[in-house]
Amino acid sequence: MVSVNSQGDMEWDFGLPNSLDEYDERQVLTLKYLFRDVSLDLDKEDSILWVHSVNKVYSVAEGVRVMLESNLDTEFVCVKVVWNKLVPSKIAIFHWLAIQGGVPVKETLSFRHCLRDGADDKCGWCSSQVESIDHLLLHCPWSYNVWSALFSWWKLVCVMPSSVVEISLACFHGLGVKAKEAWRLICPVSFWLIWLARNNFLFNGSYQSWKSVVEHIKIKVFQWLVNAGKVESFHLYVWNAQPWMLLK
Ligand SMILES: [Zn+2]
Repeated sequence: MVSVNSQGDMEWDFGLPNSLDEYDERQVLTLKYLFRDVSLDLDKEDSILWVHSVNKVYSVAEGVRVMLESNLDTEFVCVKVVWNKLVPSKIAIFHWLAIQGGVPVKETLSFRHCLRDGADDKCGWCSSQVESIDHLLLHCPWSYNVWSALFSWWKLVCVMPSSVVEISLACFHGLGVKAKEAWRLICPVSFWLIWLARNNFLFNGSYQSWKSVVEHIKIKVFQWLVNAGKVESFHLYVWNAQPWMLLK
């Protein structure tokens, strides 16, 4: 909210609590610095403008264009990888959230002060590591087994990437162009199904084996490729045995 003080200067009230931690304090100072030269016409209605286009109107296509053109960060390169038309929206959105650090794992909830004081922030599967996004989706022994099985399925020999961003962008040598396209589908569906298995375990006490998740991942990707006309539905056996043969 903006108000005008007795000297006629504008004052910003962000409606924040009085006690902020060091990180939030820095964010507020940065925000105030960005607003230092902003003057508002208090008699006009507020409106939202997209400054990157001439007509000041936002569209998803414009947003993607600006991110791709800016090329400032690895995360922007992920745009092309994540927004794959073969991947259902809710799974692509989850993939994007994972890359952006927006998945509400315990570490994130703790950072946002959303966990009760003294609440356990450890991974529910291994109970030994803080449940971070990279731990949950990649490095927890349970998840690691999923990825190891997937690498083995594709006969890939590699060191486990360190982060969800790294594995999303990984270019595995030895894969043909079409095989790489298929492999691109594996990341989002794996993240999504690992997350569902985690939630089922955490909230319903229902344990799902990593092997069943691997089978589910294989079937999901196969279905997407069948729906897109990239493989034939009767090729399921080949898909399970030698997927790269089907796609080269
Ligand atoms: Zn774990």
